Amino acid sequence: SDRIISSEANQYDEQFEMSLRPQKLSQYIGQHKVKENLNIFIEAAKLRQESLDHVLLYGPPGLGKTTLASIISNEMDVNIRLTSGPAIERPGDLAAIVSSLQPGDVLFIDEIHRLPRAIEEVLYPAMEDFCLDIVVGKGPEARSIRLDLPPFTLVGATTRAGALSAPLRDRFGVLLRLEYYDEEALEEIVLRSSELFQVEIERLAAREVARRSRGTPRIANRLLKRVRDYAQVIGDGTISLAIANQALELLQVDSRGLDHIDHKLIISMIERFKGGPVGLDTLAASIGEERLTIEDVYEPFLMQIGFIQRTPRGRVASQLAYEHFGYTYPEQN
Ligand code: ATP
Repeated sequence: SDRIISSEANQYDEQFEMSLRPQKLSQYIGQHKVKENLNIFIEAAKLRQESLDHVLLYGPPGLGKTTLASIISNEMDVNIRLTSGPAIERPGDLAAIVSSLQPGDVLFIDEIHRLPRAIEEVLYPAMEDFCLDIVVGKGPEARSIRLDLPPFTLVGATTRAGALSAPLRDRFGVLLRLEYYDEEALEEIVLRSSELFQVEIERLAAREVARRSRGTPRIANRLLKRVRDYAQVIGDGTISLAIANQALELLQVDSRGLDHIDHKLIISMIERFKGGPVGLDTLAASIGEERLTIEDVYEPFLMQIGFIQRTPRGRVASQLAYEHFGYTYPEQN
């Protein structure tokens, strides 16, 4: 998606995100519970001189799962191999990757819920016993050979822990859920990124960018980049609150981080369906979007901020949503 507030990475994000990635757990902002847990597991594994247990990271996109995986490898002082569920198509692909690992290495599999089932089954003995059973040859010639692997740590990332099969989920020793960031944490991330970008930013401007970032560091960094461009072209390069506000207005990101698609969705609920309940399919048809896109992309944040509620009879727009868009909330009877 090319929405500026999309939490999915786009082709432009990759390079500058790399440059903004914290290297150490202590530089990773927010997510206190996750950090505290990880810190203990990492220290314990190091004391025992063992590889770290397999870790499953789950939560919405853009919250720093890849970053955390590379921090884990840094803290453990090992290498990291990055791949993703859909990229591993055949058992041989997986075999090639795991057999090239050094002892203790981290194997990061993004979107692990999209691993083909046949690959999952090859992964189980690899995770449990650090070995692979591979079938070589075809037909009557086929035989299975067992390959020993070095101990490694699988770090899996997924947006939905529920989409993972139970046997796969059960093989992770550590399950960590990433939460949307609060404004303070995002402000800190914006200030840190500004420093790395070597751009001056007023604290209030950083707070404003944070407020409109949908709890998501990826969005905060992307907005910051655009605001910086604006400050350089229109102003003297410093990001003041006024400059930030102007730039964000131009980007059509409102005070809560909502854009025209969020507006369309909520206003349709209010004007056409009296605020709901309205079924997801009906709503999708009324704004010309896919049901799945609404469910996976637009809705989670709107629910998180309490603008939409999910009820057995459909979606309902809340009083907060009415007020945000300047509508009077109808009297309930
Ligand atoms: P996806 O699931 O879509 O791959 P992700 O959750 O793996 O996304 P990352 O690529 O790790 O997201 O993070 C996105 C950007 O946000 C990176 O540039 C990273 O530097 C920054 N970032 C994420 N979390 C933090 C944090 N806690 N502190 C500082 N910067 C962060």
